[in-house]
Amino acid sequence: MRRFACPQCGNRVFFNDHQCLKCATSLGFDHLADQIIATDGLSVCANRSEYKCNWIAAGGTACQACSVEVGPPASDPEVDEFRSAIRRMLRQLHVLQVEYVYTTPNLRFALRRSTDDSKVVIGHEDGLITLDVAEADPVYREETRARLGEPYRTSLGHVRHEAGHWHWQACIATNTETLAKFRATFGDETIDYPDALARHYAVGDDGKWQAEHLSFYAGAHPWEDYAETFAHLLHLTDTLETARAEGLALPAWGTPAQRYQQWIDVTVSLNELSRSMGMSDLYPFAPPPTAINKILFLAGIIPAVNLA
Ligand SMILES: [Zn+2]
Ligand SMILES: [Zn+2]
Ligand SMILES: [Zn+2]
Repeated sequence: MRRFACPQCGNRVFFNDHQCLKCATSLGFDHLADQIIATDGLSVCANRSEYKCNWIAAGGTACQACSVEVGPPASDPEVDEFRSAIRRMLRQLHVLQVEYVYTTPNLRFALRRSTDDSKVVIGHEDGLITLDVAEADPVYREETRARLGEPYRTSLGHVRHEAGHWHWQACIATNTETLAKFRATFGDETIDYPDALARHYAVGDDGKWQAEHLSFYAGAHPWEDYAETFAHLLHLTDTLETARAEGLALPAWGTPAQRYQQWIDVTVSLNELSRSMGMSDLYPFAPPPTAINKILFLAGIIPAVNLA
């Protein structure tokens, strides 16, 4: 994320802010300009008070971020966490010049909530991403994370992973040449998906995935491998952008591989910072060379990514 300042007084403000804490100027996020601006005399999103959305919208209608939500639930802390994650991801797509409205399929989100009686299946179908806002409850999420043996599980991670499934369908499957390159890098995605998943869980986590994949789940099927890689690329570009904006990393230089190494250097520092506070590693991954190649392949598909 980049740094934002109050347009009125210059005080530091943040991506989700509605108001400057210093001078009380009403603020909104202009997603086209990628800027926090004063809302005086401008149209704010129709959901500003109800959904706490701080985006600017033409004509006082729902903003770009709200318009990709299907059947939106009322605001509460868990819903708000997912809304923030979706906005952060949409802002990245815009910065990386990845179109998501005028695509086939277009990107949409449905926020649902698991209860004891009915579990929401997180997933993607034809551009529609279903998310489980119960995952924003720390107890629920940590129980799930520990049960599945995952090193990393966050609302933002879910949003980025599922967006990867949409991106595959919208930007890889639609281009014969790109699809051929995808298959050469990730394998044949036409193998039966339910069968592959069943086999994956029958074998269990024997650690073999570490030689080829970013995560255990990435080894389940080429679609999951792609979604994990897409999420990783967004983790990487956001974290590097933030590190550079905060003066913690140098501007991009060198070849894609050298730029990738810059990211690894940043993650080593981030992990040491976390350990200094007695927290677990911020970046609990160690991508093997084949997984790095997949990240670099994807960086080549999205030219605005600063790795290729
Ligand atoms: Zn201010
Ligand atoms: Zn909105
Ligand atoms: Zn998936």
